[in-house]
Parts: sequence; C-alpha cells; structure tokens
Amino acid sequence: MQPDAPIVKMLAGCQWQPSRNKDESTAVFNPSTGKVIARTPVGCDADVDLAVASARDALPAWSETPAVVRARVMFAYRQLIEKHFDELARLVTREHGKTYGEAKAEVQRGLEMVEFAAGVPALLMGQTFPQIAESVDGETNRHPVGVCVGITPYNFPNMVPLWMFPIAITCGNTFILKPSEKVPLSAIRLVELLQEAGLPEGVMNLVHGGKDVVNALLRHDDVAAISFVGSTSVAKYVYEVGSAGGKRVQAAGGAKNHLIIMPDADMVQSSKALAASAFGCAGQRCMAGSVALAVGDAGDPLVSQLAEVADAMAVAPTDGNDQSQMGPVISQDHRDRVAGYLDTAGQVGAEVVVDGRKVDPGDSFLLGPSVVDKVTTEMPLWTEEIFGPVLSVVRTNSLDEAIAIGKSCRYGNGASIFTRDGYAARRFKREFNAGMIGVNVGVPAPMAWLPFTGWNQSFFGDLHIQGTEGVHFYTRQKMTLTRWFESSTESHHDPVWKEK
Ligand code: NAD
Repeated sequence: MQPDAPIVKMLAGCQWQPSRNKDESTAVFNPSTGKVIARTPVGCDADVDLAVASARDALPAWSETPAVVRARVMFAYRQLIEKHFDELARLVTREHGKTYGEAKAEVQRGLEMVEFAAGVPALLMGQTFPQIAESVDGETNRHPVGVCVGITPYNFPNMVPLWMFPIAITCGNTFILKPSEKVPLSAIRLVELLQEAGLPEGVMNLVHGGKDVVNALLRHDDVAAISFVGSTSVAKYVYEVGSAGGKRVQAAGGAKNHLIIMPDADMVQSSKALAASAFGCAGQRCMAGSVALAVGDAGDPLVSQLAEVADAMAVAPTDGNDQSQMGPVISQDHRDRVAGYLDTAGQVGAEVVVDGRKVDPGDSFLLGPSVVDKVTTEMPLWTEEIFGPVLSVVRTNSLDEAIAIGKSCRYGNGASIFTRDGYAARRFKREFNAGMIGVNVGVPAPMAWLPFTGWNQSFFGDLHIQGTEGVHFYTRQKMTLTRWFESSTESHHDPVWKEK
C-alpha cells in the first residue's frame, strides 16, 4: 500500500476541493501492478448539498442559453477530447487495466456521444399542429428537466459518464456526476476538459463516494433525474428509491449474454468473435458474451476452436505494454471471486477446458481466459453474472431449446446468433428474450445514435440511455394551445370545443 497516494478532489461549489469527509477514503489500484495510485474520498451529505446547490444555481441561466450556444461547448469539447485522446486512453488502461486498444475503443465510443450531443438542438424541436381547432394552433416544446445526476460503474471509466452528461447538458440541464470510486481519474479528467471547453461554472459538478453519497443524491429534493449504470441489485434499488421520490430514473443493470452457435456457422470466424466477446476487457463488459449455446453438432468443433483461440491470447499486464491482448480484472477481490467459479466448476459437473488460473498474475490482478464446457442452467456458472473472462458452454439440441433457455434468463441485455441460415437468424431476432440482438456480431452494443435497449433485469425505467431516447429522458414536454382572433371581427366561427 502507498499511504501517501493523493486523495482526489470533487467539483462542487464551483471549485475543485477536498471532500468534507476528510477521514475516510478507498484505494484506487493500477490493476497491472497491484499498486495504489490514488484514493477516493468517501463523500458525505455536505458534499452532495454543495454540488446540488451549484447545479441548482447555474440552472436558470444555462437552461435559458440558446441550445445552439450550448451545443457549441460540445463542439469545443469534442476537439479537446480528440487532442487528449491518447492521454485519456492511457488513463483508462492505468486505473482499469484494459489493453491500450480496448481503452482507445472506449474513448472513441465516448467521443461519438459528444458528437451526437453537438447535434442535439435538431432533436429539441417540437411538433406543431396549426388549426387543431377553429382559430387554435397546437404546439409542443421540449424543456430541460432540471438538476440531473449520473452514477456510473467501474467498467467503462470514460465512456459511460459520456453516455450521460453531454446529452443532459446540451438539453439545458445541469449535472452532477458520481463516478465509480474504483476509477475516479478518467471522470475527473473528462470534467476538467469540459471546463476548458467553456462550460459556465456550476453546470457540471462531480462528487465521490459509494452507497451513502448515492443515497443522498437519490433523496435530494432538488434532483430531478437520475441516470444509473451498474449491477442489477443496485440498479433496481436506485430505480425504486428514485422513482418513489418522484424523480425520472433510467437504471441499466447487469447481464448474462447468450451467443448461439448453429451447426452451419463458420466455426473459425465464430470462435474468434466469441472469444473477443467473452474475453475482451477481461470479460468486464455488460455486453460481454458469457454463455455459448452450442446447437446440435456445433458443440465439439466450437469447444476445440475456442480452446485454440483462448490458449493463443497474449495475457499480460497492460500498463506500459501495448502488446498485451488481455489485461487484468479490476481488483484482487474480483479476481478471487471470478476464479471461485472455476474452483467449483468440477464439483457441479462442468468441465474446465481452458483454465485461466494457470496464468501467473505476479503482483497484478490477471486471470487468463477460461472456457467451461457442459454447463447447465442449474449451475451458478449460468444463473449468475460472473463479469470476468469465463465463457460457459451450454449444449443444446435445437434452436428452440436455445431460445427457451434465453426465455428463462432473468437478464436481457445482449444476445447474438452465428449462422449462415437467414431463417434461423430471423427467428432468433424476433423471439430471443433480450433487448440488443446481433447476427454474426459478437458484441451487439449500439453506438451513440441508437438507444441501449436492455430488457428484463438489465434495465429499470422507460427511456433508455443514448440516442433520441436519451434526449427525451433529459427533457420534458410542454404543450401549448393558442387562439388568436382578428380583433376587428365582431363574430367568428364558434370554436369546435366551445361549451354550449
Ligand atoms: P456497482 O453496482 O457495484 O456500482 C455502480 C455504481 O453504484 C458505482 O458508482 C457505485 O459507487 C454505486 N454503488 C455500489 N453499491 C451501491 C449501493 N449498495 N447503493 C448505492 N450505490 C451503490 O457496479 P460495478 O461493479 O461498478 O459495475 C459492474 C456492473 O455494471 C455489472 O453488473 C455490469 O453488468 C453493469 N453494467 C451495466 C451496463 C449496462 O448498460 N446495462 C453497462 C456497464 C456496466
């Protein structure tokens, strides 16, 4: 442990300053080295009060700023992110452990959110209905909802915050970000760059901490909307508490994503796509493939191809090593938890074909890729979200059986099919129990312009994150009816709605 690792600051009261809780902090690790690189304060109610007050005070002027002027901040922000692209990617690698390539891909997805936000004014236009009744015109307008909050997970330190605040702010809201305490550094850098882009003081705020700070945000009367991304149990809690308090809530939760491999699939290409899906970002993606549903004869060739691909992966610490193809998981605790599924796989009747535990982690939190065959739907390997580099293979006899397994899953984020058969693909698209579907695509994660449409316990709320639904989440509509008569006219037609 490095006791002198700096404690990061919050942005509240229009300045970067220490948390009011000076006594408690949690460690931020570099997963490649196991070293503590910073400490996150365990924030408190006073931090939240300060941040909410700044956001509330900045709201009137910001919400009245013309939308095109607000959007210009995003154009400047976009340029700054591009200028600092490499620095931001390296920061993700440093505090999260992603490979340099994965970190760059994450920053690119985040950048696209800013590009989308720069075009938000076009989506703020309302509808008009002239002469909806005699001499009456109707129109709708979109207004900001107020002070918005974003609570984000550790697995996309850069992209997930960017899912939220660029749209919210361009829609005229003010914002408070509460990043994961495990990865605060990327969020802080993103907010610094946003300030540099010319955002007025108080529009963007950042507080740190865990459960207590989230509770203070959820219960604050001046907070209008909450965007949350994280595990299912917390997503459900945030949704229930936030909406009970009259707030808008969109809460994305955990996942168990199924990948169906039909016997006619190109086994070499499919295995590569499956391995990339399951082991990319060390399996710590809510869209990671977690279960391979091998249909009919696909089972044996799939497992042997997967083993070949997994064994060939260069698993190594990522910080300072751009050649690493798979990096560590976020913490020692998480590594132990994921390895626990491999420890017990044999006892429950599954077979570990590729064993990630054989990789020597040294001081890092490395765990190699694992393929576990003969998994059934009673085993924790299927019922629980593992969120690590473990791919479970469930053997099925038919597409019907594979679709039925999907139906019994409590999650519903992503699912993909690998096949050459258009009819099978069509049935899968229509019938599989998940909100984001891929056909011969390993990770069917939408980009900025499309909504992130998780189903079941993978999402709580109505309007999803990203795309036009994101704009609708961060705005409320006002409908206006207007009637004008020609002043010199004594009589006019009775309006159709006039009371008799
Ligand atoms: P997490 O739920 O532990 O933490 C998410 C956020 O909630 C963090 O900011 C954390 O500080 C806060 N938090 C944690 N415990 C809390 C509690 N008891 N009460 C209130 N707040 C609490 O999630 P994580 O481990 O950081 O991230 C991994 C999870 O996120 C996985 O389940 C993954 O599937 C999910 N995820 C989902 C999506 C999606 O779009 N559906 C995207 C990314 C990650």
